[in-house]
Amino acid sequence: MLKMNNIKKVFRTDLVETHALRDFSLQVEEKEFVAVTGPSGSGKTTFLNITGMLETFDGGVYELDNEDVSKLNDKQRSRLRNEKIGFIFQSFNLIPDLNLFDNVDVPLRYRGFNAKERKQRIENALERVGLSARLKHLPSQLSGGQQQRVAIARALAGDPRFLLADEPTGNLDSLMARQVMQLLEEINQQGTTIIMVTHDSELARRAHRNIHIVDGQVSDYQDLQPVLDVAEA
Ligand code: ATP
Repeated sequence: MLKMNNIKKVFRTDLVETHALRDFSLQVEEKEFVAVTGPSGSGKTTFLNITGMLETFDGGVYELDNEDVSKLNDKQRSRLRNEKIGFIFQSFNLIPDLNLFDNVDVPLRYRGFNAKERKQRIENALERVGLSARLKHLPSQLSGGQQQRVAIARALAGDPRFLLADEPTGNLDSLMARQVMQLLEEINQQGTTIIMVTHDSELARRAHRNIHIVDGQVSDYQDLQPVLDVAEA
């Protein structure tokens, strides 16, 4: 479970102070699929980056699975991030001169898994996204939707409890966007909690809950469908 209470985030430059999140409070339950919407500059990416511990915050309490994130040092935060969180981004962020197998391998090497375990995780993850026949392809040999699926496989290979997605369909045409959304729904039904920032209101409506952020605060919640137990799904 993920719990934020009165989170504040201020970006300071020489000339301006931007209050990106103001007393931002939110709780996300296990196995939820939450879509986050809001105008440009409202704080969606800042929220996601703090959630993923890529960014620190200036006040408030953030607990991830009962660990108080503000009390952790850098090393403990990166351990928690590596263990629990997977990320996907609008621009896929694949390494162009590595084939699919090696792209998915990057975070697993970083985490120090042995070669046998890595191979198993990579093959399983690419199978989950329907790309196991393409291990040796380069990203440039794939469509945008397929590249995003590789990025999803890379995130899943670490077996995260939470998948954070920042505009994952923003670079895709509507057919590919729907296919990627369907894959995210399957992953969620298999037990991964998903938080997805999107500008696409049609995709947002397919989540369990919509959270609308305005000016660094949650302005509206909308429950759309119940979270089914994984066993029922
Ligand atoms: P978009 O939909 O355009 O991606 P967003 O809702 O994700 O926007 P954020 O990227 O979270 O918004 O930004 C929130 C506010 O914080 C904006 O005013 C932005 O300019 C500011 N901001 C974000 N990152 C930084 C930074 N590194 N330095 C200074 N200001 C920043």
